[in-house]
Formats: sequence, structure tokens, C-alpha cells
Amino acid sequence: MSKIIAPKGTGDLYSPQIEKWQYLEEKIREYYSRFLYREIRTPIFEHSELFQRGIGSETEVVQKEMYTFDDKGGRSLTLRPENTASVVRAAIEKNLFNDMFPLRFFYIGPMFRYERPQKGRMRQFHQFGVEVFADESAQVDAEVIYTAMNFLDSLGITDIAVEVNSVGCSQCRPVYIKKLTEAAQKHEQELCTDCQRKIHTNPLRIFDCKKETCNELSLQFPTITENLCEECADHFSQLKETLELLSVPYQLNPRMVRGLDYYTKTAFEITSGQLGSQNAILGGGRYNNLIKELGGADVPGIGFAAGMERIILHLPDTIAGERKKKVILVAYRTPELRNHALKLCDTLWSNGACAFMDYSAKNLKKQFKKGDKIEADFTIILGEDEVEQETLSIKQMGTREQTVIKQEELEQWLKNNI
Ligand SMILES: [Zn+2]
Ligand SMILES: [Zn+2]
Repeated sequence: MSKIIAPKGTGDLYSPQIEKWQYLEEKIREYYSRFLYREIRTPIFEHSELFQRGIGSETEVVQKEMYTFDDKGGRSLTLRPENTASVVRAAIEKNLFNDMFPLRFFYIGPMFRYERPQKGRMRQFHQFGVEVFADESAQVDAEVIYTAMNFLDSLGITDIAVEVNSVGCSQCRPVYIKKLTEAAQKHEQELCTDCQRKIHTNPLRIFDCKKETCNELSLQFPTITENLCEECADHFSQLKETLELLSVPYQLNPRMVRGLDYYTKTAFEITSGQLGSQNAILGGGRYNNLIKELGGADVPGIGFAAGMERIILHLPDTIAGERKKKVILVAYRTPELRNHALKLCDTLWSNGACAFMDYSAKNLKKQFKKGDKIEADFTIILGEDEVEQETLSIKQMGTREQTVIKQEELEQWLKNNI
């Protein structure tokens, strides 16, 4: 029979990699609880319309990368390519804007995009992210960026660069886009066909083009930062001030427009030089119109999403070892003692210890071999003598030191040694 393999762009996670994922997830939960964020879990598929309206039908993501399918009821569904639209949908649907405070969420989970797989880029990939609703101050933007930077720092990721920009609002952006369109039209013939189309559909996306000629040309185009309205300019300068107050080192990048259409005012990215110059680990921004556009109230929001695969690449391999609990192998001299051994395991498990016994072992030697495989820290050997005298002989595998204790002393021994 032919072998069935995992679909292209997906992976399986197991030890010793999975320990890094568990470690990262625990860190996220612990860290973000300090800032009063609470976890939210939304479905991995949604009505396709949510992403078409939420992300923008002109974006790469919606046009080329979504896993969209009709279910058996004829509904068009899409595996989520990102999670902000889903969190907003949930908050509107469950009326959280009225019922909860503070409106601060974090999420952890898989996302799906049909892209060419490469190192660090999967079709099923994982993001963690945060969303903060109902606070339009520049200070909360700074706090969100501050948490992102310090969280990555706490994981030991060095060489972090924070880039910030303002992408304007519904007042100043249309004026700017007109200027940008005019500038781009002057160079229409020199731009790639994709960008020529973008001039008329969404000229901001020209800045995302990966072709060098387009990139170079776009350096001459006017930037949004020079064309902000008074309110956006004020918000941007307060953001920069607060970042300085919180000692967040940042660089300005007036051409960073991010891949999604919903951003207003603050946009930011965090890259790490450890992975090479072009590698963004985390990106986000403010989205003051998204909630209204998805049918909710006029509530502002800000958030970011971080690529977990990329963060995992930075984590040291020693994490699996550091997280390993002490393991006890329970070995028995003869098959007749197997049930005694199992009862001993029961006692160990009930006391919170990690214990293992090999039910099919023919002799002690084979059990010790299994003990090596599970990297047992201690071995308790049961023989007729031990059962009769109600003792336990415990061998510490590292030092080979052997101790004999009374069975009733086991709990105390566990407290001292495990
Ligand atoms: Zn503005
Ligand atoms: Zn182009």
C-alpha cells in the first residue's frame, strides 16, 4: 500500500520540538496575564466574507492565499489566514464590548495560507497575538509595542529592531493616496504589471512589491508620514514620546504599510537580525475602522501577530532537557511480582511522580535497558525480599548510589528527591 504523507506545507510536532512549543505557550500566558490580557479561542474556519471584508479583497492574502471551500451545506468557508478578524467577529457577536473590561485578548493557534513553503514559512503556521479594544490613546499603542519587544527579549532573542510608522486615517489617507497615485502614474511603464494594476486598486500595496525596480522607484514616491492630518500627526508624536519614556528603541520606517488593509495610524514590525535582515517576527498596528466595518460599534482597536515558528527557531535546544521531570523506573525481579510493581506505580503516580514499568519484560536486564531509553533518574527494584520485608531498594542512576527505605517512608522520600 502507498504511504500517506502530511500535506505540503504542514508539519508534525513532537519531542524534543514540542517541549519548545509548550514552553513558549506557557511564557505567553504568564507574560500577558501581567497586563490583564485574557485568552480567546475562536474557530479555525469562518465565513469567507469575514476575511474578504475584514482583511480587504485587494490584499495578497485574500486574492491568492486563502483556503476557501464550500461545505456540504453550500456555505463558503475559509480556514483563518489570521486571527484579528475572528476576534473582532467574536467580540461583536458576543457583545463583549459592553460586557467585559478590560477588552484585552491574546490568542495562540494555527493559521492557514496557501503560500510556497520555505524555511520558516508553512501553509499551516502558528501565531500568537494580542488585540486591545476601546482605547484609542497613543499610550496604549506604545504599551503594546513595549510588551512585544520585552516579551521577545525575555525569551533571549537578541538583535531585535522595532520599526514604527503611521499609516494615517480615513481623513488623511485618501488625500495621500491621491498624491501617491499621481506619482506612481508618472512611472507606470517602469513598474511591474502587478504594480500597474495596484495603481488603480490599492497603490499602497506597491510598497509591498518584492521586485527591485518597483522597490527603487517607490523610494521617490511621497510617504504617508509626510502627509498625515493633524490628529494622526499628534497621535504619532505621542506614540514616539511614550516609546522613549518606556525605553523602547525604535526606528521610523515611512514605507512600512503592512500586508493588511485595515490598519489606521500606528503600524509596527519587530525583526531580528539573528534570522537575517528581512525577517519580521512580529507585526501589527491600530485598526480604528475594522470593528465598524464588520458591523460592530465605532470602537477602536490595536493588536499584533507573531510568527511562532520563527520564535521557536531562536529558542535553545536545552529547553526540552530543562523541562524534563525526574523519572522513576519500577523494575521487578520475576513475573510473579508484576502486580506488586503495578501497585507501587499506582502509589507513585498518585503522589505526583513520573513512574514507568515495562509490562512485557522477561528479565531485569531488559527492564534496565528500557530504563536507559526513558532516561530514568531512579530505579526501584522489587524482589521477594523487598515485598516480604516491606522495603524498597532505590538506585540513583547518575551516582549508582543505592538506598533501602521502608515502604511507609516512600512519601517522604519522594518529597526529598523528586
Ligand atoms: Zn489622519
Ligand atoms: Zn511591482
